[in-house]
Amino acid sequence: MRCLVIGAGLLGLTTAWFLRQHGFEVTVVERRGAPGEETSFANGGMLHASQASPWNEPGVLWQVLKTLGREDSALLIRARALPHMMPWAWSFFRNSRRAAYVENLEKNARLADYSLAVMNEHFRALPMSFDRADRGTLKIYRSPAELEVAREVALRCRDWNVSYNVLDASAVVELEPALTPIGDQLSGGIHFPDDLSGDAQRFCVELASACTSAGVQFEYNATVEKLLSERGRCHAACIDGELRYFDACVIAAGSYSGALARSLGVKVPVQPVKGYSLTLPLEAWPVVPQVPVIDEHFHAALCPLGKRMRVAGTAEFAGFDTSLTRSRIENLYSLVAGVYPQAAVALKHDKTIEWAGLRPMSPDGVGIMGPTRVAGLYLNTGHGHLGWTMAPGAGKLVADCVAGQGGEIPLDDYQLTRF
Ligand SMILES: Cc1cc2nc3c(=O)[nH]c(=O)nc-3n(C[C@H](O)[C@H](O)[C@H](O)COP(=O)(O)OP(=O)(O)OC[C@H]3O[C@@H](n4cnc5c(N)ncnc54)[C@H](O)[C@@H]3O)c2cc1C
Repeated sequence: MRCLVIGAGLLGLTTAWFLRQHGFEVTVVERRGAPGEETSFANGGMLHASQASPWNEPGVLWQVLKTLGREDSALLIRARALPHMMPWAWSFFRNSRRAAYVENLEKNARLADYSLAVMNEHFRALPMSFDRADRGTLKIYRSPAELEVAREVALRCRDWNVSYNVLDASAVVELEPALTPIGDQLSGGIHFPDDLSGDAQRFCVELASACTSAGVQFEYNATVEKLLSERGRCHAACIDGELRYFDACVIAAGSYSGALARSLGVKVPVQPVKGYSLTLPLEAWPVVPQVPVIDEHFHAALCPLGKRMRVAGTAEFAGFDTSLTRSRIENLYSLVAGVYPQAAVALKHDKTIEWAGLRPMSPDGVGIMGPTRVAGLYLNTGHGHLGWTMAPGAGKLVADCVAGQGGEIPLDDYQLTRF
């Protein structure tokens, strides 16, 4: 069987890898010149089953209204994005009702648990390093109330194998001594020992190379313009003006998946949600952090990646615009200084990389995977803020589905038909 995978980001590459393991002829088409150049380029670096909560938790509407128009708000909606996202936004807020939120949290936790197992089982043996670390993730809290809410969410995720340890402030500092200067501001933390971390873009490059060795074909600098069907079956793609034929196509084009599926009349509710990151060299830091930290109060993720620190945060609905808004970037510098004040002087550095990417977000906060109503057309997108976490598992499930095999967890909860 000839399979076309559109997109060489995290989701496209893991899908391609497992399709090849099934023995299929696989071609990955990517409009950029290399793998992992778009959203998978500089994300927060954490593979965290512990962070499975969808962003539309109960009360999100109130939070958005309260901070509307504020440049420093964690979730910012730009006016120009509004007209294009109304039906999606309606569904996003509807999914913040408690029952829907809990159901979606459970779906994510189940997939994340499976995904981490796939990562450990299938990719550990490959010659890859991608600055992987197995030190878990540490969430820190500045108020006892926030810690208590987080403990409840963690308790719920324990049903999906997410183990955790609740720590008081002194145990937090013992685990990550670089947090000592803010130890007296903390009410405590939760350590999730099974979470992983690593550089997603390096993983993409290394996995693409492993795919090539296994016989996957890559076409870079090639854009899929539209898909074509015959008698209800997707059978061809127009790639830079040339028609190409295949038996199955997986759209893993991140935030751009909707436009491609639309060429066959399939509606995929994915919105781009812009996020920013900084990648800082760690050489000048007095104490080098070792453990990935999430400061829930500041909505910041700070992840050591070898000799670098990745700092990611904030969400902005701004359409497909990936330009860097200075104030949002400055927020990130302040966040680092808020968590590691001792490093403030070392922050602005000519080797620091400032970046923005578009999270492909579904309105219920759960990825969209599997078949569509057009035979031969499959999706692997919409994993939002969890794409790195979900990529190994989602890639395997979608490849198993293309191969006509039931995956290890049922795909029903993740299919497009739920919308
Ligand atoms: C700031 C930030 C922090 C994040 N932190 C984390 C984290 O800590 N943990 C986590 O789990 N997730 C995180 N994420 C989310 C994660 O990075 C994304 O969900 C993931 O990268 C999405 O991967 P993808 O393969 O779907 O999309 P992409 O990486 O965008 O890949 C899609 C590819 O398709 C290509 N493409 C698109 N259209 C076409 C076309 N027509 N023809 C050919 N090629 C095409 C694009 O060029 C692109 O390379 C973060 C995201 C952001 C923005």
